[in-house]
Amino acid sequence: MTSATPQASVETLARDRTVEGDGLRHDWNVEEILALFQFPFNDLLFEAHRLHRRHFDPNCVQISTLLSVKTGGCPEDCKYCSQSSRYDTGLGAEKLLSVEEVISEAKKAREAGATRFCMGAAWRNPKDRDLPHILDMIREVKALGLETCATLGMLSKEQADALKEGGLDYYNHNVDTSEKFYGEIITTRTYRDRIDTLSHVRAAGMKVCAGGIIGMGEERADRAGMLQTLANLPEHPESVPINLLIRIPGTPLEVGEELDPIEFVRTVAVARVLMPKSVVRLSAGREHMTDEMQALCFFAGANSIFYGEKLLTAGNPEASEDRALFERLGLKGEARPSVPRNHSHG
Ligand code: SF4
Repeated sequence: MTSATPQASVETLARDRTVEGDGLRHDWNVEEILALFQFPFNDLLFEAHRLHRRHFDPNCVQISTLLSVKTGGCPEDCKYCSQSSRYDTGLGAEKLLSVEEVISEAKKAREAGATRFCMGAAWRNPKDRDLPHILDMIREVKALGLETCATLGMLSKEQADALKEGGLDYYNHNVDTSEKFYGEIITTRTYRDRIDTLSHVRAAGMKVCAGGIIGMGEERADRAGMLQTLANLPEHPESVPINLLIRIPGTPLEVGEELDPIEFVRTVAVARVLMPKSVVRLSAGREHMTDEMQALCFFAGANSIFYGEKLLTAGNPEASEDRALFERLGLKGEARPSVPRNHSHG
C-alpha cells in the first residue's frame, strides 16, 4: 500500500484475493476494512462506484415497501427499537393484520412502483400457530407479481423450510452491528443466534437480506466488524440494508452523538467494495438524510430504497419526495417482473 497511488491501493484491497467459487472474497480482516474506511473520500467513492458500475446499472434503484404486519409488544430488548415492550415509546401491541389488510397495502405498494413487498412482525420468533397465516400473506402477495420478503425474528430450520416452501423469496435478519459491540445493544439473543438464523435461511434456499444499523454509538472498527461479518458469510447476502439510527423517544438510544453523514456514505461505499454483487439498501433513517447525502450514497453504491410513508413504525420520506429526487438525479426504479417469479427487521 505504501508504494502505490492511493487509488491503486483501494483497488488492490478491493481486488479478489482469495476467491471462492462465486468469484468473491470471503476472507476480509478488520484491518483491511478499516484501511478502506481511511482512504481519501474521493478514492474510496471512485472505487466503490467503479465496482458498482461493473455489476449494476448505476442509474437503476430497486424499490421495496415494508409493512408492519404485527406491531409492538416485542419481548426483545434491542435498544434502538420502538417496538420493544421494555421501553415506553407510546407504541402499544397490536394484533397480526388480516390477509385482506396486507393485500390492500401490497396493491398500493405495487401502484407506487415497488417490486418487493416486505412484511415485518415484532416477534422474538414466529410461533408455529401464526405461520399458516403468514404463509397465506406470502402466497397472496406473490400472486400480485411482487417479490416477497419477511422479517419475523429468529427462525428454526423447520420454520425456514416452511417459509421457503410457501414461496418466500427473501428473509431479512440483520446482524445489527459488530460482534464486539452487539452486547451493548441487545442482550436477549446472541450474535450466534443471528448467524444461525441466517444459515437456516440460506440452507432452505431463500435469498438473504442482512445488514445493520449505524450511528448507535459504535466505533468505526465496529462498523468495519459488522461489514466483515456480512462479507465473510459463506455467500454474500443478496441484499444488505444499511440503516441510520432513528432516535426513538423512550428508547435507551433516544439521545447520543449524531453520526457524521460523510461516515455514513463511507460505510455504504465500503459495503459496496466488500460485497460488489449485493444490492445495498438505504433503509431506516433516510428521512434524516439530505437529498445531497442520498445522492452521494447512490454514487457510492446504494441501489435500493424503501419507499412509502412508513418504515415499520418510523417515518419514511413521502413517496412524492422520492419521485422528485429520482427525477433530479435521473434515476429510475427497477422494472417489475410482469409475472410472479418462482424463486429486515430492516
Ligand atoms: S428490533 Fe425486532 S426483535 Fe428487536 S425489539 Fe424491535 S421488533 Fe423486537
